[in-house]
Amino acid sequence: MRIAFFGAEGKAGSAVVARLEAAGHEVRGIEVGDEPDASGCDAAVDFTTPEAAPANVRAALEQGVSCVVGTTGWEPAELGAFAAEKGLRLFVAPNFSIGAVLMMRFAAEAARHLPRAEIIELHNEAKKDAPSGTARATAEGMGGDPSIHSVRLPGLIAHQEVLLAGEGQLLTIRHDTLARESFVPGVLLALEKLPGLPPGLTVGLDAIL
Ligand code: NAP
Repeated sequence: MRIAFFGAEGKAGSAVVARLEAAGHEVRGIEVGDEPDASGCDAAVDFTTPEAAPANVRAALEQGVSCVVGTTGWEPAELGAFAAEKGLRLFVAPNFSIGAVLMMRFAAEAARHLPRAEIIELHNEAKKDAPSGTARATAEGMGGDPSIHSVRLPGLIAHQEVLLAGEGQLLTIRHDTLARESFVPGVLLALEKLPGLPPGLTVGLDAIL
């Protein structure tokens, strides 16, 4: 595939791009200050910032290119509607790690039995949004309104604990991203499934697993 990649030189972007190229995809990296030119590409991918992603996605959709977005901390509903109008796809996942998706599923199941729960999410100090998209999606899946505590420290990548309390017991569900390569299989899967998705917005890796 020919892929326009917004944020190709970022921490997540560079790890994903290396693997996309190794898998034989042709990647056009687009950085700050570059024209957001995705024309002629089969798909666009965005791992930038909550401020930059909406304009990048809009530009790609205007050029007739469907998008896979990992950037968190923005609201994709309006651009999802724009994609639907144009018969294009917008796939957004707050977390591309399979382990994190399983953590969210297990937390949703556990919350049915242990409703007193809180979430601790820990990320690198450079992360711009808090709470994380994964923590918000986890809380939503748990149905209630668990408190979310955000930690931002150097050296971390992406980590989350869901603590569920019952009488005399505590269940902890934890996921640790140890390397950004953990996002690669999810991004590859999203790119593969993108043409078969319904036009408009699809949210979450869960929807395509
Ligand atoms: P990062 O290292 O800061 O990378 C962001 C990159 O985007 C930088 O290279 C930045 O360039 C570039 N950028 C900023 N504005 C741009 C624009 N208008 N057009 C093109 N490129 C632009 O951050 P990161 O850790 O890779 O994370 C990026 C985003 O992905 C965050 O929202 C993060 O939460 C999210 N993320 C999601 C997942 C997931 O699984 N869904 C996984 C990891 C990260 P400069 O450095 O020059 O500003």
